[in-house]
Amino acid sequence: MAILVCGGAGYIGSHNVRALLAQGETPVVLDNFLTGHRASVPAGVCVHEGDMRDPALLDAVFSAHDIDAVLHFAASSLVGESMERPLKYFQNNIGGMMTLLEAMVRHGVDRIVFSSTAAVYGEPDRVPIDEDAALQPTNPYGESKLVMERLMRWVGEVHGVRSVILRYFNVAGAWPDGSIGEDHRPETHLIPLILQVPLGKRPLITVFGDDYPTPDGTCIRDYLDVMDLVDAHLRALAYLRDGGRSVVCNLGNGTGFSVRQMVEAARRVTGHNIPMSVGPRRVGDPARLVASAARASSVLGWQAHAGIEEIIASAWKWHGAHPDGYDR
Ligand code: UDP
Repeated sequence: MAILVCGGAGYIGSHNVRALLAQGETPVVLDNFLTGHRASVPAGVCVHEGDMRDPALLDAVFSAHDIDAVLHFAASSLVGESMERPLKYFQNNIGGMMTLLEAMVRHGVDRIVFSSTAAVYGEPDRVPIDEDAALQPTNPYGESKLVMERLMRWVGEVHGVRSVILRYFNVAGAWPDGSIGEDHRPETHLIPLILQVPLGKRPLITVFGDDYPTPDGTCIRDYLDVMDLVDAHLRALAYLRDGGRSVVCNLGNGTGFSVRQMVEAARRVTGHNIPMSVGPRRVGDPARLVASAARASSVLGWQAHAGIEEIIASAWKWHGAHPDGYDR
């Protein structure tokens, strides 16, 4: 039996593909390679290239393999871009999910693990955020993921497709040997940008606002190691195989760190003084996003293990060995 990994050449998908292989599973990758990297997919893994919105392609993929379950990571995921091109996000993300679910129903595949996001909550009304918090996305990216969640819910009710929806907080880090890692173009995430300073690629890191209502004035986020995230996906897969019912779980550490604390941690890890300047706030950034991951613990037996220095250290190992990402 194979596991179809949609978006298996992306940052999080590629780490899951590796972990599936290590567990003796047979991952099959579907990716359009617009943001994914061929070099991140191990040799020997079957790769289908194309757009998820193509029903004929999905039929071919589902016919070529005996697919047991789907891990779905493929989506446009830049918040800023989604504010400029909302329809791209609705077309690509929601359209891709509709085509995928249709193919799953046609081919009798009834298990899916989906990468959702804390962006479905928007500006939270309470912290830590549990899964019953209000769902009020503040950008089209978060809205598209919320609609994708709802599509799965109804297809579950009507067609019996069971889903584990994982709402990620801030994912970072890399495979422990530094062989695969994060390579977004453009890069917008805090940890890779901080590490560009000791790599000599930028002179300093700009903190987006220090006048938030937090202890040091900078935004607080819940940083999660990609390997802990991978562990959650493997557990979700096992849960569905054991007959588990559809569930939505947050994935986070349950502890928040400020931007300033992250820069300080990166200084300790890299031994570089990493100069910092304070710029204006970035539009749409909530002051504090911290997960309650209690449900993932009770339902999946999962909890995050890596602390921020460990996360930064593995990211540093990857970026240090691959300063230009997957480009040689
Ligand atoms: N951030 C920052 N400078 C940067 C990039 C990000 O101060 O160059 C801040 C950002 O405002 C947010 C946190 O770092 O508070 C994490 O941002 P990121 O884009 O990594 O993830 P997000 O929380 O937006 O999903």
